[in-house]
Amino acid sequence: MSAPARRPLVAANWKMYFVRAEVEAYAEALLAEELPEEVEVALFPSFPLLVAASASLAGSAVALGAQDLHPEPRGAFTGDVCAAQLVDSGCRWVLCGHSERRRGHGESDELVARKAAAALAAGLAPLVCVGESKEERHSGRTFDVLARQVEALPVDPRVALAYEPVWAIGTGENATPEAAADAHAFLRARRARRAGDALAAALRILYGGSVTPENAADLARESDVDGFLVGGASLDPSRFRAIIRVLAVRTRAARGQP
Ligand code: PEP
Repeated sequence: MSAPARRPLVAANWKMYFVRAEVEAYAEALLAEELPEEVEVALFPSFPLLVAASASLAGSAVALGAQDLHPEPRGAFTGDVCAAQLVDSGCRWVLCGHSERRRGHGESDELVARKAAAALAAGLAPLVCVGESKEERHSGRTFDVLARQVEALPVDPRVALAYEPVWAIGTGENATPEAAADAHAFLRARRARRAGDALAAALRILYGGSVTPENAADLARESDVDGFLVGGASLDPSRFRAIIRVLAVRTRAARGQP
């Protein structure tokens, strides 16, 4: 395996879990031991938890992200949250186009691209989720879907992708390392066509979908897998830490370090 030059990113999508006291206890547990500097770590709580999470993570290298944003910078959008409010709450990242939003809230590729652009304009890094449904995979349309989902995305080095096959999210059925590697290679090639080789080579593409400490090492054997977006297993800090450790070990091995 060749050494990936990209710094791995491990992101915790907490979805609609936790209240403030749980966030504080989680942060205390996660930060109780030093986290490996080889890996960038980010937590994505629900909106009402962001400020508390930011306070709990203060002084650590763990970054904070939100799970969504509105594409407009401000305005009469009741119930929505804009990028500047996320920055003001301590966020450095924001998820765009998670399949639970594409499906549950009818988010189109075009809207996801606008959200990513709005994030960048405010200084946030968008982690854009893409991935095919089971039916799309079975009818041989995986790569068409992925191509369509990434096409309109802004060309900017701060954009990261998460390949999350919809059928793998929360199901316990993860993609095989080979299938993940194929999808990641395809996404990188598509980005190269649109954004150039240098940007594509630096692009971080995470895998997401039923990642656990048990399957992370197999998936991490693929050098095109630049980290993980973790849902269920991220809710337990010791399981999340174990996943982070897998990528730290891979990075050290690639550098020839013990
Ligand atoms: C997710 O929500 O992005 C996700 C990948 O969930 P899980 O790890 O539970 O499949």
